Amino acid sequence: MSDIIQLLPDHVANQIAAGEVVQRPASVVKELLENAIDAGAATIKLIVKDAGKTLIQVIDDGKGMSTTDARLSFERHATSKIRTADDLFQLHTKGFRGEALASIAAIAHVELKTKQDEDDVGNAIVIEGSNVVSQEVVVTPKGTSISVKNLFFNIPARRNFLKSNTVELRHIIDEFHRVALAHPNISFAMYNNGSETFNLPISNYRQRIVNIFGTKTNEKLVPVDEDTEVLKISGFVGKPEYAKKTRGEQYFFVNDRFIKSAYLNHAIASAFDGLLKNGTHPSYFLNLKVDPQTIDINIHPTKTEIKFDDEHTLYALLRSAVKHSLGQFNIAPVLDFDRDSNLDTPYNYIKKNTNSPTIEVDRSFNPFQEETQSKARAVAYKKEPVASWENLYVGLESKGTKTQQDFSEVHFESEESTGSMFSEDKQVDNIQTTYQLHNKYIVSTIKSGMLVIDQHRAHQRILYEDFLKNMTIKEAVSQQLLFPLQLHFSVQDIEIINQLKEDLEHTGFIFSGVSKESVQIIGVPVSVPESEVSIILEQLISDVENEVPDTHFSATDLLAKSMAKSLAIKTGQSLQKDEQEHLVNRLFACKEPNVSPTNRTTFVTMSVDELDKKFI
Ligand code: ADP
Ligand code: MG
Repeated sequence: MSDIIQLLPDHVANQIAAGEVVQRPASVVKELLENAIDAGAATIKLIVKDAGKTLIQVIDDGKGMSTTDARLSFERHATSKIRTADDLFQLHTKGFRGEALASIAAIAHVELKTKQDEDDVGNAIVIEGSNVVSQEVVVTPKGTSISVKNLFFNIPARRNFLKSNTVELRHIIDEFHRVALAHPNISFAMYNNGSETFNLPISNYRQRIVNIFGTKTNEKLVPVDEDTEVLKISGFVGKPEYAKKTRGEQYFFVNDRFIKSAYLNHAIASAFDGLLKNGTHPSYFLNLKVDPQTIDINIHPTKTEIKFDDEHTLYALLRSAVKHSLGQFNIAPVLDFDRDSNLDTPYNYIKKNTNSPTIEVDRSFNPFQEETQSKARAVAYKKEPVASWENLYVGLESKGTKTQQDFSEVHFESEESTGSMFSEDKQVDNIQTTYQLHNKYIVSTIKSGMLVIDQHRAHQRILYEDFLKNMTIKEAVSQQLLFPLQLHFSVQDIEIINQLKEDLEHTGFIFSGVSKESVQIIGVPVSVPESEVSIILEQLISDVENEVPDTHFSATDLLAKSMAKSLAIKTGQSLQKDEQEHLVNRLFACKEPNVSPTNRTTFVTMSVDELDKKFI
């Protein structure tokens, strides 16, 4: 039989390798930024268009490449960073595999311009899908500029697999943050579709964090510093009261490389033990310096996990360092001499004029009117903590063109709903009795047997349909806030809020201003307690970041889901009898009572027959 094994041509091998190295535009960003850092750049600029789908360009003022190196840099396993296997354990650079440029050039149109300081002219190379299209001498400043255009042009499946621009941009910004946080001594700028997203001058670590995450961050940071023989820890943890519900800003850097470690994350969480509200996560920005010989980062090109020789010791040291800092911070205010006094006054406030709050007066208010009416009015104008059950559904059943005044009567009357599901097949005519089980399920008897409802999912379904209705008929009921609510977000979170602003307004939010780092809200949907607003928006932002698929994406739907998730009664919450009954009734008035907005079963039934069988 003849031989059948062949060596793959380079361009095929490169394309296969590219599948590993380049998963999305953000992977290219990471590789190019790391190369610029390895080249000793002092200033690095990142330019992206259409979330990197059209263009990713990184310009640095590093050491540049010679003519031969410029060409060689696109070969596979071509690297200037290691020479022998032993060098792997002495790594002081980000790169070492020599795979990135070869992989990127295999699946995109790449243009490289580079010049070394000592040369008069530089080189420009154009490569498309591993083919060198041109190489010529050009006048270009010292350093390197690489543009990557039309990523995945020759792998349509990959290109189609990319998520929406919002999501891809979010990944790019994440990579940018990781690199920029690890190198405050390098100046970074990022431009997206022609506008500047970040401009980070050389600064100390605290300022770098603040420049990225917003001026408000400054007051949240508690310094951590510990110098031991095996490990040097420096950086900051977020004060416990600022811990976030949905996602902390959590960054570990080991020898200036961003890593993820569930184990070390646990060390921090345990240092915060007893200080955090349930379900919240602390922020941290921690740099660990260890002997490169004691770690192994050689696992996978895109993986951020690394292996430590002595994880247990690191765990213990990290935990005690963070504990120590938190303790100090609790006892006495921390003096931080690095602190830049400019950071103390948030930017927005420096220029801010004082405005007196606008107060709405109800001119028709008559204190001598009948008891019931004035009570109802109080609910509509100023959100009193109404009986907890009313909170569940109040204001959601806006019908026709009700004004605020008659609206206030609506929520006391809502008995409109006995389910179509039941009336149709005549299973039951009415719900007779309900019990709450483990503060989680509502058990209800029906004619044919019994019904067990997941209270959290059921309520999500109810709220979801109501929000959707409000948003699509564009007729939400707002409650005006007595004092405007100022909420602070990072620049990229604001971008997401801006995208969803219109939909948010349809649910009843009223924005009086959106600035670079904050939003001002003067009205919220009636069903939303003021204290929940920031949690809802945070949850929404994280949902947008994590879940938006490219196609069929409806902001309205996502918003309705996200708000329903945030506001639905939780498992563990005990409900009064009438609350339970309302929940059951409202669920079966829904269009799709069987499943939650995320397609999970909301209730199960068990018939008497089935029960009988169990007793045989
Ligand atoms: P690695 O970074 O693993 O060495 P790459 O494919 O990313 O592999 O880069 C190949 C080589 O090209 C690098 O080793 C380096 O010598 C050179 N190179 C890449 N980018 C730059 C840059 N921005 N400035 C100078 N040299 C660079
Ligand atoms: Mg590299």
